[in-house]
Amino acid sequence: MAEAAVRSRDDSPDRLYELERLRMVREQLNGRDIVDPRVLAAMREVPRHLFVPDDLRHLAYRDGPLPIGHDQTISQPYIVALMTQLLQLVGTETVLEVGTGSGYQTAVLAWLARRVFSLEVKAELAQQASERLSELGRDNVEIHVGDGSQGLPDQAPFEAVIVTAAAPSAPPPLTAQLAPGGRMVIPIGGRDSQYLERWIRRGDAWHIERVSPVMFVPLVGRYGQDKETWWWM
Ligand code: SAM
Repeated sequence: MAEAAVRSRDDSPDRLYELERLRMVREQLNGRDIVDPRVLAAMREVPRHLFVPDDLRHLAYRDGPLPIGHDQTISQPYIVALMTQLLQLVGTETVLEVGTGSGYQTAVLAWLARRVFSLEVKAELAQQASERLSELGRDNVEIHVGDGSQGLPDQAPFEAVIVTAAAPSAPPPLTAQLAPGGRMVIPIGGRDSQYLERWIRRGDAWHIERVSPVMFVPLVGRYGQDKETWWWM
């Protein structure tokens, strides 16, 4: 009887997803350049399968992005981990995220920072993400609907800013809202070529690093992409 109970608990969907998640971390993150122990721990904890559409849950821990509706995607787990690692969070920060999408990256940030403000331009995605995060008991996140390319001046400054859609250049309101010493991670470029960049504020100067080539959906809004050059917007 006891043995049957143990076996049924071990075969539960949650346990199977957990095993897939541990394998994802081992193969896709440890196997690459993700070394921050807090980021690795958060990636082991956050249930990515709850952030993908029901019919794609069996693919939730695969090494790639997935569609989430509204022509948008949930980013590849490695990219979520890499961007988070680049923010160098220690747990005391107020973070601004532009592009909530499914809310998965938001959840990882909520595990690692004091407070997270996330902006999403599509109201339905913002609503779904908000529901998922409250189901997970995260009360340090606020999701707002609006043009994130203009930031959230009322809540600035932010010790970390993360943009999860490709911008033509760093939006001035986002750099202005970054605290001294703060880090911004952002994909910069157009439809055909983009690079992940990290901007670090040092007084009035900026240290800018080009990290790796990436492929993101377009940032829209005032400081976003030009519709003429991004044909499917
Ligand atoms: N990190 C997300 C996740 O884990 O699901 C994926 C984000 S998805 C690649 C990019 C998101 O940015 C989309 O949901 C899109 O609607 C949003 N977006 C694009 N431009 C925006 C803007 N100006 N303000 C706010 N959100 C924007």
